[in-house]
Amino acid sequence: MEIQIENLCKRYTSGGNTINALDEVNLTIPANQIFTLLGPSGCGKTTLLRCIVGLESPDSGEIRIGGETVWSGKDNIYVPPEKRGLGMVFQSYAIWPHMTVFENVAYPLQTRKTDRNVIREKVAKTLAFVQLEGFEDRPATKLSGGQQQRVALARALVAEPKVILFDEPLSNLDAKLREETRKDLRVFLTELGITAVYVTHDRIEALALSDSIAIMDKGRIIEKGTPKDIYFRSEHHFVADFIGRTNLIDAVVTAQEPSATIVDCALGSLRCAPLPRTNPGDKVVLSLRPEFLRFSDSDKDGPTNRISGRIDSLVFIGEALEGEVLVNDTSLFVKVPPDSELKEGDPISITVSPANCLLLTK
Ligand code: ATP
Repeated sequence: MEIQIENLCKRYTSGGNTINALDEVNLTIPANQIFTLLGPSGCGKTTLLRCIVGLESPDSGEIRIGGETVWSGKDNIYVPPEKRGLGMVFQSYAIWPHMTVFENVAYPLQTRKTDRNVIREKVAKTLAFVQLEGFEDRPATKLSGGQQQRVALARALVAEPKVILFDEPLSNLDAKLREETRKDLRVFLTELGITAVYVTHDRIEALALSDSIAIMDKGRIIEKGTPKDIYFRSEHHFVADFIGRTNLIDAVVTAQEPSATIVDCALGSLRCAPLPRTNPGDKVVLSLRPEFLRFSDSDKDGPTNRISGRIDSLVFIGEALEGEVLVNDTSLFVKVPPDSELKEGDPISITVSPANCLLLTK
């Protein structure tokens, strides 16, 4: 079910200061996708989620779920949360400790006075779906964190919501379990084919889980796209920096060619991926991701940029050697294969293809 958000504003006043938690948010969340709201702490993600659920009242704008208006400032419409047909999973699993797994999952159906046989059938089906068959009689507290989170998911799914919303649901799990649960969640949600709106400030989680991501900052949507679009073809300085570690270097356009934009920067003259609508003399920012920097002289991939420098520092972190290369006075963050013999002080030649030299407007 598609969610449409139009010109949504929400202001908070606290200690005499006004905060624009949502500042003219316009967003369409496509049906049957895992859609993530990603951004730094305080950017407005939770406020937007709470407005969709109906736990928060916006100041102005409109929210439609599956074509039905659930909130409108101008038409004075407010549909309460329980009538919006949504399921929600929070950061704290909020499962009831005094109940068994079965009782926890059955609860939303019991409050609707559903027939006992139907409840038994639906709970069994949902528990099988989240792979908790056989756990029905276990007290909810006698489960691992990942299993408790799956109980919370089952409880949100059992009433067959049209849309499911998640607010940082994995942040209480340890790193390994978070990774496993993230993978399971993607499988569950894709299989279910329902609309899922997911809030996180964890970029890896967003990249791994989502069909689409919207990046938020200061109450606004800055950019949206598939994980690969956001990572490889971000248009904004803020997004490129937030979504993964990158080298951002001021540059000036010197020429436009059909297949490349040429720039001058502290690393020299570089051929970059074309940035349309820029002219010689325009100031831009070059984004060079460490994973695209190569340390051999191979020309196999066609025309390439060559940058010479010296290794300033290298630290072994297991999966790689991370460090910095000094090019003139500019420091480049690099990642080198962990078995490399390179060491501090070594001269180094870096190659990077034009397609991987991304230009952003300033
Ligand atoms: P986090 O990732 O830290 O949860 P967030 O992106 O979800 O952050 P929100 O919780 O939506 O951010 O908050 C957006 C802004 O609104 C923040 O500046 C926050 O301090 C402010 N805010 C949120 N709720 C209230 C409130 N009830 N009263 C006053 N200010 C609030």
